[in-house]
Amino acid sequence: MDGRERLRAYLEQRRELGESEFVLDSMSIDEALSAIDKLRAASPAKSAPRPQQPARPVSAPPAARVAPPAPQPPDPRPAVPVTPVRVRERADEVREQSRNAANDGNHADGVDEAVTEERQGLVVGNANGTLFEQNPFHNVGSIDALAKLIETCTRCPLYKTAKHAVPGSGDRQADFMCVGEAPGANEDETGQPFVGQAGGLLTKILAAIDLTRDQVFITNVLKHRPPGNRNPAPSEVEACSPYLVRQIQMIKPKVILALGTFAAQTLLETKTPIGKLRGAVHRYYGIPLIVTYHPAALLRNPAWKRPTWEDVKLARHVLDSAKS
Ligand code: URA
Repeated sequence: MDGRERLRAYLEQRRELGESEFVLDSMSIDEALSAIDKLRAASPAKSAPRPQQPARPVSAPPAARVAPPAPQPPDPRPAVPVTPVRVRERADEVREQSRNAANDGNHADGVDEAVTEERQGLVVGNANGTLFEQNPFHNVGSIDALAKLIETCTRCPLYKTAKHAVPGSGDRQADFMCVGEAPGANEDETGQPFVGQAGGLLTKILAAIDLTRDQVFITNVLKHRPPGNRNPAPSEVEACSPYLVRQIQMIKPKVILALGTFAAQTLLETKTPIGKLRGAVHRYYGIPLIVTYHPAALLRNPAWKRPTWEDVKLARHVLDSAKS
């Protein structure tokens, strides 16, 4: 990989972590990426002389953390804007504190034993869920009835460009719920969530904590595909989020796994980068919520497999604790 490619990979990785700025003559990440693209257009990398040393990004972390991306097609999703879900209120003060988990020692399986610390994270909403009730779909009585409404939804313009709505799939009474960003091309074709390459990886991640797709409920913040997989717009999130809220309300999962920056920042109503949200047990209207990397990001950055494993192990631990 030449220096520019290496720098580009590094910047994309920082952007996926939710960062938008780095110190380089006050350039934002997007500006730097666009400068690299202009440079590439002016002098294609093939003909450029190779630098003696691989280029090191400014204020880069240790080289081992700048994993070159696997040879996957680039994810067309741009950087994630922070989009608070306005239908919900942050009823409680945000609290972020560390504590040692009071392991009750009741769980003997390997996954559970490995988790020795449970850091408490952000708290969104109150556990009795008063504001949860203020939902336009409050009277919709089943996940399937809600899915029918989603299929004919015109609350935002995305239905005009999408082929199929993707309400979600899996156990309607699942203890474990996965929330991604928005359907991609494969999901749009099939009406099913996470069926592409990232979906295959999600299936494996779940299997690693002894869960099948049938045992969990998988859905997204947005139920229709944004054209070209662009970032969801705040108005789209606002229009669509009551569906997700109602799904959570009806399914009543014991654990929510937020996949990627967008789902995590949307549900937790925060701009905090994913790197800082990981590793803690947040509360979403009383429901434990764990954050991990999006499987698509994981495909590009194999170095994130280890932290993802830690996250899902934590999620499994919280699930087991809640069930016992
Ligand atoms: N990415 C997502 O966030 N959701 C899907 O359903 C597929 C890819």
